[in-house]
Amino acid sequence: MATNKKPGNWRKRTIAVRGGQVRTGFQETCEPLIFTAGYAYEAAEEAEARFKGESPGYQYSRLSNPTVSMFEERMAQLEGAPAARATATGMAAVSAVFLGSLQTGDHVVSATALFGSCRYVMENVLPRFGITTTFVDGSDLSAWAAAMTPKTRLLFVETPSNPTLSIVDIAAVAKIAEKGGARLVVDNAFATPVLQRPMDMGAHVVVHSSTKFIDGQGRALGGMILCRQDLLDENLNQYLRNTGPTISPFNAWLHLKSLETLELRMKQHCENAQIVADFLAQQKKVPRVLYPFRPDHPQHNLAKAQMDGGGGVVTFEMEGGKSSCFKLANALGLIDISNNLGDAKTLITHPETTTHQKMTPEARAAAGVTTGMMRISVGLEDAQDICDDLAQALKVA
Ligand SMILES: *Cc1c(COP(=O)(O)O)cnc(C)c1O
Repeated sequence: MATNKKPGNWRKRTIAVRGGQVRTGFQETCEPLIFTAGYAYEAAEEAEARFKGESPGYQYSRLSNPTVSMFEERMAQLEGAPAARATATGMAAVSAVFLGSLQTGDHVVSATALFGSCRYVMENVLPRFGITTTFVDGSDLSAWAAAMTPKTRLLFVETPSNPTLSIVDIAAVAKIAEKGGARLVVDNAFATPVLQRPMDMGAHVVVHSSTKFIDGQGRALGGMILCRQDLLDENLNQYLRNTGPTISPFNAWLHLKSLETLELRMKQHCENAQIVADFLAQQKKVPRVLYPFRPDHPQHNLAKAQMDGGGGVVTFEMEGGKSSCFKLANALGLIDISNNLGDAKTLITHPETTTHQKMTPEARAAAGVTTGMMRISVGLEDAQDICDDLAQALKVA
């Protein structure tokens, strides 16, 4: 394999198209999809050297694969991260960061507003290994500081959060982590490196569900861990190699190629989401709209300071609670009812009865999820058609 041209001081969009590309002897222009479980050695001595770590190259695709390596390298360059490991799903990435870096007796502090499965891992999986978590209001910096103990090893944040799109001050929470000798993990699935680079603001680890905006077309699952080399070297690298949450080379190839258009797509997602948010804010039956780049978002200034766009998700409240939300959803002709997000197709969901159904009413209230709340993942269709569909459905609701 020949490496590609040297990455000069490439800008983000160039990195997204060319970063990490490696060519085989065929000199193909498109990144190759290397679909193999194993690798052959020229001689037994080469195999021995490879296993000793004295000869570069691949051994087995659970450990690494050339197509997966290209996806990792391109993501590392985009996030400004020293190291990257791709995983089968976003949840594989999140769980591996916890299980591959914590031990019994350790403590985690997390923002309350979280993706449901992340919360499940912290509330139900980690306690079985003697690891406890304190949940805090992510916007309350004094609550973060107060929750720190000498055993705190990780702080976990999703910003913007699902579904309330609340924003956490990454730089400030990173300082609190640093002071306590802990690491800050940021789930960057909603913003992507196009809109937000948490490591530039002091975060120690970034995790992604590449299933969402990175894939961008709702096709394949994937995840990514971005971090400094020391975290990988402690335990995480061996944890990943031996427990095997490995991404398929095919999914890695899809997501690698999707990165080429990520910036163009995110710009359009943001533009469409802003139009949809502004449209919804004018509707009588919609008392509240949450979108980070609207001036009425409670953390608008913070969002503007740490993000380059408001993102592709809009959350709003319907008058009349659950029944009018259901009427609205059922009357839609273009927009699909789906709990996924980050698709080119606009998708709508009622979090209380879907993504956040398994939470207790108290936990739901703490996460800000109300009975009249709807979340739209605004796609890449003509924004006017999305608004027209919402307008006709609002008449019915
Ligand atoms: C979807 C999602 C996840 C989980 O990712 P999967 O690829 O579905 O495992 C984690 N965090 C956030 C913010 C998500 O949106």
